[in-house]
Amino acid sequence: MIPYRPEPLTDFNNPANQEAFAAALAKVEQELGRTYPLVIGGKRIDTGRYIESINPSKKAELVGRVAMAGKDEIEQALKAAWDAYRTWSRMPVIERAALLFKTAAIIRRRKHEFSAWMLLEAGKSRAEADADTAEAIDFLEYYGRQMIDLARRADDLLTPLSGEDNHIEYIPLGVGAIIPPWNFPLAIVTGMTVSAVVAGNTVLLKPAIQTPVIAYKLVEALEEAGMPAGVVNFVPGDPAEIGDFMVGHKDVRFISFTGSKQVGLHLNELAAKQIPGQRWIKRFVAEMGGKDAIVVDEGYDVEMAAKTIVQSAFGFSGQKCSACSRVIAHESLYGELVDRVAELAKAFKVGDVRDASVGTGPVIDQKAFEKITSYIEIGRGEGRLVAGGTASNEVGFFVNPTVFADVKPDARIMQEEIFGPVVAFTKVRSFEEAIEVANSTDFGLTGSVLSNNREHLAYARHHFHVGNLYFNRKCTGAIVGVHPFGGFNMSGTDSKAGGPDYLLLFTQMKSVSELL
Ligand code: NAD
Repeated sequence: MIPYRPEPLTDFNNPANQEAFAAALAKVEQELGRTYPLVIGGKRIDTGRYIESINPSKKAELVGRVAMAGKDEIEQALKAAWDAYRTWSRMPVIERAALLFKTAAIIRRRKHEFSAWMLLEAGKSRAEADADTAEAIDFLEYYGRQMIDLARRADDLLTPLSGEDNHIEYIPLGVGAIIPPWNFPLAIVTGMTVSAVVAGNTVLLKPAIQTPVIAYKLVEALEEAGMPAGVVNFVPGDPAEIGDFMVGHKDVRFISFTGSKQVGLHLNELAAKQIPGQRWIKRFVAEMGGKDAIVVDEGYDVEMAAKTIVQSAFGFSGQKCSACSRVIAHESLYGELVDRVAELAKAFKVGDVRDASVGTGPVIDQKAFEKITSYIEIGRGEGRLVAGGTASNEVGFFVNPTVFADVKPDARIMQEEIFGPVVAFTKVRSFEEAIEVANSTDFGLTGSVLSNNREHLAYARHHFHVGNLYFNRKCTGAIVGVHPFGGFNMSGTDSKAGGPDYLLLFTQMKSVSELL
């Protein structure tokens, strides 16, 4: 088999690619406003109640209406998933992996179309959407190969014992609930769904309420690739109505969650409670928020640092769990760096991402807009505003890149996840102090160190406590198979999506021994 290699990103400087993307966008625009059903056991179900998915760049534009599942539909989906599990769990690994490879090929052929849906439903710029689609393809290619390797390597791990024939096998768990966030509406949804499925499980996929249409497009691609009925059941809905019900259900064997700390902790507690009829300890995988820092050391090039910070903090309006929201800079370059980042932030063009010259688009919805602007108000009391601080939700949900200087490490905007284009600066006198400040939140997801000092990099390698540590580069943009992704502490269970151990989370090892 051809080894896994990450999907190349589209070069949008090439006019042919620009045209191909524009054509895909025009096609998708023709399809706006359609209605999408649930998919349970392969059947389309229209419940007559809908999520209205809107374009965050232009809130009057309806992207699509998606049927909402209630508790009855969750019960039906669980039954369909357990029925499908009987055959899917026994399907040869190579055939399950083939479903992923075929789906990757389908998405690759219609790459710009998938990206265009994200541009309209999630407010991603062309380049950010293209990277999201490429990552979805990567997860399909990578987990397919990982599962084949896992099945092959199993027996090699054992120590031979004369007189016995011993085997191990990684078998699936059962039916799982897949609960992804909206911010990587294709990549994370695909990764979380197909990792469980390729390992032989069947699932209920409850997409985020903000981005259900693109999730439906994934389900269509899986079906086109030949996925049997009931393997992935598509059950969007109001989390307040079906979320707790699904996670707390006795027939759910595992929960794969990516989202906020608050929701993750709540679901962890719910999943831990054994209820009558439940025959297992539910497996709970949770990847949660971040409060990611870039440390800038004495002597580092200010221009390079400023560009790295702006890219990490304001790409996709800072709506990445890995986005930089804190800068911890040495006093020798602090003032110059703050000024340069403020300049670059002010030059950022914010607007409807259909305009290719826009630097960053909207935030996802009214709730996010309110949360981010309320943190900007808090920031005014905690630091010195040097860029941004303005926002408008008249047409879409736009927040200008915002920079606060002179913020104390224990300030709220230095401790709490804002999930928007807001970055706070703090000044330190030594590298050791910088790392201490960097480690002083509940989170531990990503972090970057910008330094020319090898001893300092070695110090950070040991002391900077984050799941994904980067040296002399941005703190976003983990690539499947290259940078296994997941955080420490309140950032989650460190599942390391896109890493060599990830599939183990959706399997259990069976050991069979026969006396010869
Ligand atoms: P969120 O916690 O609001 O929602 C995540 C998912 O949980 C959604 O599908 C939502 O509908 C669902 N949900 C909410 N309440 C529920 C309940 N009671 N029962 C069941 N499901 C429920 O998060 P979000 O706003 O969608 O995403 C942003 C968050 O995700 C940020 O905190 C970000 O840092 C985090 N995130 C983390 C990673 C990572 O890999 N660590 C990646 C992307 C995003």
